[in-house]
Amino acid sequence: MRMIDLKATLKGAKTWLIKRRMGAFRRLYREITQTQWYSKEQLEAFQLARLQRLVRHVWETVPYYRRLMEERGIRPDDIRQLDDIQRFPIMSKEDLKTAGNDIVSTRYRGALLNTAHTGGTTGLPLPVRRDIWSIAREHAFVRRQFDWADLKTSDRCAYLEGRTVASPGQRPTSLHYYDAVMRELTLSTFHLTPEVVPHYADLLQTHKIRALIAYPSAAFVLAKGCLERGIRVGLHRVLTTSETLDEVKRKTIAEAFECPVFDFYGSAERVCYIHMCERGSYHVIPEYGITELIPAASPNEDCCQVVATGFWNLAMPLIRYNLRDLVKVSQRTCRCGRVFPVVDKIMGRDGNVIVTPSGLQLGASAIECILARILYAMYDMPVVAGRVVQDASDALTLEYVPDAEFTEEHAGRLARVMAEQTPPGMHAELRAKKELDRTVRGKFVSFVMANHH
Ligand SMILES: [Zn+2]
Repeated sequence: MRMIDLKATLKGAKTWLIKRRMGAFRRLYREITQTQWYSKEQLEAFQLARLQRLVRHVWETVPYYRRLMEERGIRPDDIRQLDDIQRFPIMSKEDLKTAGNDIVSTRYRGALLNTAHTGGTTGLPLPVRRDIWSIAREHAFVRRQFDWADLKTSDRCAYLEGRTVASPGQRPTSLHYYDAVMRELTLSTFHLTPEVVPHYADLLQTHKIRALIAYPSAAFVLAKGCLERGIRVGLHRVLTTSETLDEVKRKTIAEAFECPVFDFYGSAERVCYIHMCERGSYHVIPEYGITELIPAASPNEDCCQVVATGFWNLAMPLIRYNLRDLVKVSQRTCRCGRVFPVVDKIMGRDGNVIVTPSGLQLGASAIECILARILYAMYDMPVVAGRVVQDASDALTLEYVPDAEFTEEHAGRLARVMAEQTPPGMHAELRAKKELDRTVRGKFVSFVMANHH
């Protein structure tokens, strides 16, 4: 018998209302099913109109941009062509941190906002505010991505990526939940061991899952486990994200699940979206925002840095935000008939898997999720600097330099988060320090993986 998880289903009902029923979703989805066949000139006109609206919006309602535009003498009417975006400086993650709450539009407050946080392998994870309309609009793009991968709204999906069933440090009674409204099965990525593979495979089958959305590393562990045990799980599609999908992983995943793999790239900041079409080309999605691909400095000269402006999250708009990711640009046009730019490769983090003492197989993205959650706990604490160091495969140390206002209560909160997030069998330690080993100036937080095998 299939277990229906009530909590997941209630949450799903809310998600369903926002993602599928809101006018913002339906209007934009209808629009972008048309615009995907636009000519280059039509797409540029679309982008310019959105950019002009965005700049007017930030001028009127975002204190950070109002100040920046006044300082630089930029007025909304100055944006007459797409290149005019270059009057804005490139924004770094440090700029975002300094901006604080001034980067949030005064038009969106309270219940209209959702908060997530940035990922990335360097720096303190920062809050990302999203308005509910942007969530609906995001889903219009996800929906079209699924169309390209030949997935229908009625197709059931399973998720094996950053979604949390339970914290890594907990031993939950269940490693999954099923949302009957969205028809989504969530499997815990943070409890993935070779032993749970048959259980996960069984869940995929009993829930009649058609598509798996996963980190390449996690899908690979599951795929390899299925192949080794001779378990057959036929899916229609696997979608992967967040790590480089190398050939070995792609082949293993495709073989185990007997279907093609569609890779994609997005960011918590909601500024850029790149995903594969039915012909297997990576396309930069032009209606999502303006993606500038800027040649990287040596030794990565054939790669480009992704600097992006998102059109749709008006609660926290980012203009020319440097995502610090690298892609390999292609001059090819795709045979699918869309004139969207093509990218050959996304140089993401590698999908190496580490094995913890308790046998968990965690990929780079899963580890990063864990570390980001630990570091995010320090976001509003009086801490001068901090980082998580993975000393060995079985030990995490949170080093931090407390400020004068740092209290026992703060230390207690950090210890709780550490305990919650550290996988079983791993040693977790908090170490207050006078300074971190290398010279630091001002407030910064990063994580360093040392002696990582
Ligand atoms: Zn294409």
